[in-house]
Amino acid sequence: MAVWQSDFCPYNARMNSSSEQIIPANEADIACMREALRLAGQAAQAGEVPVGAVVVKDGVIIGRGSNAPISKHDPTAHAEIAALRDAAQNIGNYRLVGCELFVTLEPCVMCVGAMFHARIARVVFGARDPKTGAAGSVINLFDDLRQTPNPSPSLQEQISHSNPNSSRPPLLKGGTAAPSLDKGRDGEGLGSVLRLNHHATIEGGLLAEECGKMLSDFFAARRAQQQRKELPPPHPSPKGRGG
Ligand SMILES: [Zn+2]
Repeated sequence: MAVWQSDFCPYNARMNSSSEQIIPANEADIACMREALRLAGQAAQAGEVPVGAVVVKDGVIIGRGSNAPISKHDPTAHAEIAALRDAAQNIGNYRLVGCELFVTLEPCVMCVGAMFHARIARVVFGARDPKTGAAGSVINLFDDLRQTPNPSPSLQEQISHSNPNSSRPPLLKGGTAAPSLDKGRDGEGLGSVLRLNHHATIEGGLLAEECGKMLSDFFAARRAQQQRKELPPPHPSPKGRGG
């Protein structure tokens, strides 16, 4: 895993690299993450777990989002989803080809899936999420899929010719379900799920201390508030975006 170092950012990991690599902090990246931090602060002021995200195209922020599942009564209202929606509305296109997404907390499975659908090219996160992080902490949707080899032509032929009338997916030798060769829901041929993530790169740890401190401060304040109300104390570690 690669590690970045600079005066601003003591740690940054480039998860898709096969070996660790030191890379310099980038002032433009830091400015984007600072805006995501500002949006995370807005979430905290609204009583939401402080996570913020921005979508960037050609160096310009085109989408912003704050975590808001509690106030919106919406389990999908994560900062990344809000930023993707905002960006897509602003450019009038559900595909955000070539865009970058900066988020203060490692994205979850749902948000990584949305980023893949949007064709985000690069994802940069701040603090790790040991509970639901899908960029290496719990699962690495980027690395796992990227390192899975594409089916060989002979394998694709085997899949496409096996069991054509069955509604069940064909099985390969050993009983493993074969990758689907069906078209995606928007009509584009996916080839197989193994190709799900050939669009995005992932980097983590940018302004990780600040991003993590905002979360830990939020939960500490909430614990103190609950203790003042003489309620049973919550679990000491973050419980996810909805708290
Ligand atoms: Zn999420």
